[in-house]
Amino acid sequence: MKEKIKQMYEGFVHLFFPNLCEGCSRSLVADESVLCLHCKQLLPRTAYHHIPENESAMRLAGRVPYSYGTSFAYFTEKGLLQHLLHGLKYKGKKKTGVFLGTEFARELRTTSWINEIDLIIPIPLHAKKERERGFNQSFVVAAAMGKLLQIPVAENGLLRVRHTESQTQKTRLERLENVSGAFKPNIAIEGKHVLLIDDVLTSGATLEAASLAVLEAGAVGTSFVTIAIAS
Ligand SMILES: [Zn+2]
Repeated sequence: MKEKIKQMYEGFVHLFFPNLCEGCSRSLVADESVLCLHCKQLLPRTAYHHIPENESAMRLAGRVPYSYGTSFAYFTEKGLLQHLLHGLKYKGKKKTGVFLGTEFARELRTTSWINEIDLIIPIPLHAKKERERGFNQSFVVAAAMGKLLQIPVAENGLLRVRHTESQTQKTRLERLENVSGAFKPNIAIEGKHVLLIDDVLTSGATLEAASLAVLEAGAVGTSFVTIAIAS
């Protein structure tokens, strides 16, 4: 009976607020969420996860000791992934974060290295920014990943102790100076292999600074994943 009422309610809601595909605006069918099957296939996935020296991992090579690094899909100007991330970050579409985290985790589940991870920590926003936005988009993604992979997620495992300026107009060295010392662990991470999650990988300076903070606090290893890799 309860199930029947739920179905009726969902049907009623759907009548007035149909779930539309974020890619092509067509109505989604029962098993689809956020993207229709067709648009889901158009996501420019990297398939990096089984390749140790992939482009994402190599972006941090020689800068910080890490075990594994990978990204879910390519970020292209005006592309589908940019549209999805924009909706998540600026329009509060958390469903999109859950969708991306789940899709990503399904791929990571096929690797053996994911079993080495003890703890997932999303890259935090500065407290002021999080207050303005109301949530940390990387946590939404991380929570969905942790759920599927059955790995604990520490929402506030790292604190952003210093406000950092926008990175876009800076050189690589300036970017690192801008973020170094920006993070401080907020929980005991000694002896753990920590997986850091960020939304977009550009220069890698943010992940570099966060990895260093985690290692300084006694983590035995760090790895990182990002939803997108920008060129
Ligand atoms: Zn579509």
